[in-house]
Amino acid sequence: MSVMVPSKTPAQITPGRQALDTALYQLGQAADHLGLGDGLRTMLGTPRRSLTVSVPVRRADGHMDVVQGYRVQHNVSRGPAKGGLRFHPGTDIHQVTALAMGMTWKCALADIPYGGAKGGVAVDPATLDIRELERLTRRYVNEILPMMGPDNDIPSPDVGTDERTMAWILDAYSVNAGHALPGVVTSAAPGDSPGQAGATSRGVQIAALSALGRSPEGATVAVQGFGKVGALTAQYLADAGCKVVAVSDLSGAVYAPGGLDLAGLRAWVAESGHVLGYRHADALGHDELFELDVDVLVPAALEGAITEVNAPRVRARLVVEGANGPTTPEADEILTANGTTVVPDILANAGGVIVSYLEWVQIMQAYSWSVEQAERRMRDLMVSTYAEVGTLAARRGLTLRQAAHVIAVGRVAEAHQTRALLP
Ligand code: GLU
Repeated sequence: MSVMVPSKTPAQITPGRQALDTALYQLGQAADHLGLGDGLRTMLGTPRRSLTVSVPVRRADGHMDVVQGYRVQHNVSRGPAKGGLRFHPGTDIHQVTALAMGMTWKCALADIPYGGAKGGVAVDPATLDIRELERLTRRYVNEILPMMGPDNDIPSPDVGTDERTMAWILDAYSVNAGHALPGVVTSAAPGDSPGQAGATSRGVQIAALSALGRSPEGATVAVQGFGKVGALTAQYLADAGCKVVAVSDLSGAVYAPGGLDLAGLRAWVAESGHVLGYRHADALGHDELFELDVDVLVPAALEGAITEVNAPRVRARLVVEGANGPTTPEADEILTANGTTVVPDILANAGGVIVSYLEWVQIMQAYSWSVEQAERRMRDLMVSTYAEVGTLAARRGLTLRQAAHVIAVGRVAEAHQTRALLP
């Protein structure tokens, strides 16, 4: 048996710890603005429930690995905990806690009746075959079972997981319960909810177009990350008239000043597995994408992509966060000082959880709406949430991130105060 636990000295600051520090800093700023008391601050800065589990997974050759898994429910005062499950080797408890906190604010900002959660398994899914992945997923569900349930905690896809992962979770949970409980996850099958595919990307498109404040025709865009969120965001922005000039992935970046042929690029990525080498574009270093003179930069990969190191070189007028936590607080300050508007993750990528919520409502009611109805609700909620944040930011002289956190943290604090949990 081998144990796949990363060896870390306690003194080592992991990217996960940095993500949590960022989340706590953003909470602190909002708490200051709202004048929250110490008790409430501590409560909002601390997850309600955290579980670390060791998940044994039998490999195809018969040997057993053990991987670390996590599920964190940051807050459940406004409703059941909601948030994705990621499979990524860099995942740790701090990162999952930071992401769970982000989900609390995201749901509160969109005013949907959920708390925030996140799950993670420290594994690279590309190193497992499909049967190994299924065994891992089902075993993870067994380990975190007491935290789950349609009224308790509802996972959805995140980095490294997809609809198939959710379908295994649904089945494993239902088998344990003895009857079908489809509301225990969202996005369990492609197209099972109107507009589910690409909902996050659709939301990023709506946020970007709202922030652009002018006709999207010809507006130039660079997208970091050509995965689930990034690839469709690029397409939706191009559909709206923008010119997507550069995209990147782990292999590097490709650049075409006249606009990329995204269908051709997707075909190349399907064939080769990466963007680099696409013949109809120039190759750029991964970091060069951040320095392009574009109207819109969409970080759509992982946390901590824009730091104090590359922020001074960002020339985009608008940064729209498709990923969760891509900008560090230091970078945020630099971007703001340089006149770049940042549309924060909890606003820009809220389309995913909004559609999750709309799907969950339909499951729980056993009643389906039309595709058009669900899409319209999501769009209306994105547009009205964007307007609410923009209005508060303008009125109080805040950045969009500060305003979004003030609204979200204020709503969660109010839920605590209403229940007389804390004065
Ligand atoms: N993983 C997505 C996010 O970070 C969606 C979460 C959900 O729908 O539960 O927002």
